Amino acid sequence: MQSKRYASVGARCVACGCCLKVCPMGAIDLKYGVKANIDVQKCVGCGRCANECPAGVIEILQRGEK
Ligand code: SF4
Ligand code: SF4
Repeated sequence: MQSKRYASVGARCVACGCCLKVCPMGAIDLKYGVKANIDVQKCVGCGRCANECPAGVIEILQRGEK
């Protein structure tokens, strides 16, 4: 079953790659090397990426929001 929460990357991502290294699901890649891209089907909303992001641009949202 899909989790209720998932991560969303804001526009001000600096493409540092920190979030990729901590995701237990391998749900994040750097799209074109300019912005983190999260596969919301794989994401379980654990929040590790948000805690790690030095730019503070990852939000954990409820599915059905935004
Ligand atoms: S919330 Fe967890 S599972 Fe989802 S992208 Fe971030 S680290 Fe990966
Ligand atoms: S840690 Fe934050 S700034 Fe770095 S790639 Fe991930 S979302 Fe972008």
